[in-house]
Amino acid sequence: MIVVVNPFLFKILPNPPMAMALFPLVLIDSEKNRHNQILLNHEKIHLRQQKELLILPFYVLYLLNYFVNLLIYRNHRKAYFNICFEREAYRHEADMGFLKARSFCNFLKFLRKD
Ligand SMILES: [Zn+2]
Repeated sequence: MIVVVNPFLFKILPNPPMAMALFPLVLIDSEKNRHNQILLNHEKIHLRQQKELLILPFYVLYLLNYFVNLLIYRNHRKAYFNICFEREAYRHEADMGFLKARSFCNFLKFLRKD
């Protein structure tokens, strides 16, 4: 994992996140987060999701899932937290052994069925 601290992208975004996975990089907002194991593990889960979807389709599906959620929930926060990739990453970010045992395309288990 290659970590980039406070990249140019974060300087031009109006509301930069604390971190972002852009395969093969993990972008983080500040030096203090370089040692935030839970945050880094969350981003590592996204790197794995990106790799198994051959990178580009991940971003397409991520946005598609977000916009479908936005139609359902009419709320940015709910739409974001219900993206299957985010649900998987948030559920397992504190489990440092998760990626060792994770099954292929495990994010599919986190698609909302309701
Ligand atoms: Zn995430």
